[in-house]
Amino acid sequence: MINYSCVLTGKEPMTLKRSWHKVTIMCGIVGYIGTGEAAPIILDGLSKLEYRGYDSAGIAIFDGEKINIKKAVGRLKVLENLTHGGETMPGYAGIGHTRWATHGAPSDVNSHPHFNKNGTIAVVHNGIIENYIPLRNKLLGKGYEFISETDTEVLAHLLDYYYKGNPLEAITKVLHRVEGSYALGIMFADFPEEIYAVRKDSPLIVGQSKEGCFIASDVPAILKYTRQVYYVDNQEVVKLRRDHMHFYSVDEEEIKKEPVTIDWDANAAEKEGYEHFMLKEIYEQPKTVTDTLSPRIKNGEIVIEELNMSDEELKAVKKVHIVACGSAYHTGVTAKYILEGLVRLPVEVDVASEFRYRNPVLEEDAMVIVISQSGETADSLAALREAKSRGFKVLGIVNVVGSSIAREADSVMYTWAGPEIAVATTKAYSAQLAALYLLAMKLGRVRGTIDDALFASLLSDLKKLPNQIELLLGQKQKIQRFANRYVGAKDIFFIGRGIDYAISMEGSLKLKETSYVHSESYPAGELKHGPISLIEDGTLVVAISTQPALFQKTISNMVEVKARGAFVMAITCEGNKAIEKAADYITYIPETNPYFANSLAIIPLQLFSYYVAVGKGCDVDKPRNLAKSVTVE
Ligand code: GLU
Repeated sequence: MINYSCVLTGKEPMTLKRSWHKVTIMCGIVGYIGTGEAAPIILDGLSKLEYRGYDSAGIAIFDGEKINIKKAVGRLKVLENLTHGGETMPGYAGIGHTRWATHGAPSDVNSHPHFNKNGTIAVVHNGIIENYIPLRNKLLGKGYEFISETDTEVLAHLLDYYYKGNPLEAITKVLHRVEGSYALGIMFADFPEEIYAVRKDSPLIVGQSKEGCFIASDVPAILKYTRQVYYVDNQEVVKLRRDHMHFYSVDEEEIKKEPVTIDWDANAAEKEGYEHFMLKEIYEQPKTVTDTLSPRIKNGEIVIEELNMSDEELKAVKKVHIVACGSAYHTGVTAKYILEGLVRLPVEVDVASEFRYRNPVLEEDAMVIVISQSGETADSLAALREAKSRGFKVLGIVNVVGSSIAREADSVMYTWAGPEIAVATTKAYSAQLAALYLLAMKLGRVRGTIDDALFASLLSDLKKLPNQIELLLGQKQKIQRFANRYVGAKDIFFIGRGIDYAISMEGSLKLKETSYVHSESYPAGELKHGPISLIEDGTLVVAISTQPALFQKTISNMVEVKARGAFVMAITCEGNKAIEKAADYITYIPETNPYFANSLAIIPLQLFSYYVAVGKGCDVDKPRNLAKSVTVE
């Protein structure tokens, strides 16, 4: 018998038409089997993973006879109230989950755990099952019924399909069939003395203490119980019992593993050892960019299925309007240079709060793009509605699945950055850039402005970006030393031309947001029309110069400010020796197509802002007066 309950919201789940791969979304799994009551332990563990971001939560507990599931959209608190802190779910074995929706909107029914048809197998999953559509079709053909829109539900039914009385065998058979990324917690009602853990490309650890054995996505969830953890390797299966754990290969052979001792304190563990989420997220960027790019590069072509636009429709676009706020606006400015330069499409970029009230002229065949990390930015949402009310189709570039902009846009390109915790965006910004590069290349390809040779070279440069970002992150200490000198700075200027101007804007905003240092960004050529009067002896001017066609022009502007006493920090491309005369301090970025330079040049600027803020003792992850998701006008 299934004991299945959830809080009803009355919201219709939405359908997402997508197929991705190699995407690791971070949220939470906790499992427990032992001598204590499982539900409170699991709820407590999930609360330690709340920092990872999620939209719903659920729990499955074996009560001695059957598996009971409770789940609810919203904060963990809702689930805690629903279960009276776990008291109404007695039992010594269970699995719990916090979901960051990828397939199907956040809703009660889409929340995990998911059951097989008669409620004897329960599964929680972090990640994405790429081939869930063919698997789902196969299972539908065998008479299985699906109640959610998730990719995860295929796992529950597939386990059921392969289960012939041996859980390990069923799990390994499933592993041979599924593609994608997953961390799983699984339980079988026939084997109440066991729970199972398995993963591929999504994080998962297990640990043991006197009270029992634990599964967790991350250390903080179980740090209270044990500091000896085992990092589960890709496609390893762990069978956890009350007092021991066994590890198996995908071929069901037993494996010996050594525990790792965790010496972080609980606070540092949440951040995986990083001092702040911002730094952790800066470091996640190689992965974020990979996750946004790779699902859309197939057999040497760019495939953006979710665009829902035919090549003919893409060819018919006459103008692009990009609307966004804050850092997302800066990615829009970058995209303007790219779309105009590479695709020869006219682009207007607007700050959303201006767009919505300026009665913009939208010509026929215009494409409207709204960019937002949270998908809830009030002004961007209003701009989207404004464009739609005038009959225009809107493409949303959004990080949060099921968010308002994602729901209301006609099509959505998700940036697979995972939950971003620090208020000042870093990894979502990089993911937005990556999405815009793909879009520009796709448009250029179908409209014939990018020939085969150029396309091949752009694609090759695109694929190099994650490693190049990694290289730049290696310069952390050098930038930290430099930033320490500017902890007391009053005003800092950022200048650049073309895409470098867009980079300057983001560099300046990052610094303001995190360190409260006053800064301005200017198109380098505009300095002499006013702001140069502010340059004093020792004023720091950060000059971005990544566009070879503009090197000389920017150098002239650097010389102008240097002559007035400025200290010039330059960010430029390897090999731009000419800049040495004009700069006092230089950071080089690796060679890439100039259109992609933002993705690299922004890294030292993020690190610079971060270290100035740390040096000043600012609350880096939660700067004063700022909110992560700006849902007010
Ligand atoms: N892809 C799954 C879903 O959308 C799991 C998401 C997660 O990692 O929480 O339900």
